[in-house]
Amino acid sequence: MNIILMGLPGAGKGTQADRIKSEFNIPHISTGDMFRAAVKEETKLGLGAKSYMDKGLLVPDEVTIGIVRERLGNDDCKQGFLLDGFPRTVPQAEALTETLKEMGQSIDHVINIQVSRDLLIERLTGRWICPVCGTSYHTLFNPPKVAGVCDKDGGKLYQRDDDKSEVVTQRLDVNIKQAQPLIDYYNQLGLLRNVNGEQDIQDVFAEIASILRG
Ligand SMILES: [Zn+2]
Repeated sequence: MNIILMGLPGAGKGTQADRIKSEFNIPHISTGDMFRAAVKEETKLGLGAKSYMDKGLLVPDEVTIGIVRERLGNDDCKQGFLLDGFPRTVPQAEALTETLKEMGQSIDHVINIQVSRDLLIERLTGRWICPVCGTSYHTLFNPPKVAGVCDKDGGKLYQRDDDKSEVVTQRLDVNIKQAQPLIDYYNQLGLLRNVNGEQDIQDVFAEIASILRG
């Protein structure tokens, strides 16, 4: 079973990836891990990628797809794989389709965990920290008893710059814009499976599992 997992930051992709991995016994292949492994093992492509990264340059698609190809050829992918964070662009997706075809394989499902922009912003901006004791709160998941005040010492909670609405919204909108052509691409291929990511974690997983079990 060959799966691509898609979802914006805050959609809960990591949690679902872990569950899919253990329930369906397929490797979770994230782009970051894959790059780190290729660089560490000093494969030709890994070293190629490193030379770009060392210069602070974007790794070209040919190198990236080569690394993906190497990784998907490993024995642990014989029963399938869960790709996470790749492809990021339509040219990468097209290259992946081609590469898999050459390997006699194809993608079975593209799982897209959907959460509305507003809720994502709420999730991503919910973190508040106590300057006195460092305790971290979340307005949705772990709120303090009194808004804006630490339960333990009454410290006035603050937000990190990275968690502020303006920064989060801007970053999220870049991600939304980047994801849309990919969603369209897989939708046209009939592979896109939208899942409601606004439910409880267990219910999101149940929906994914029922798609994967067909
Ligand atoms: Zn505190």
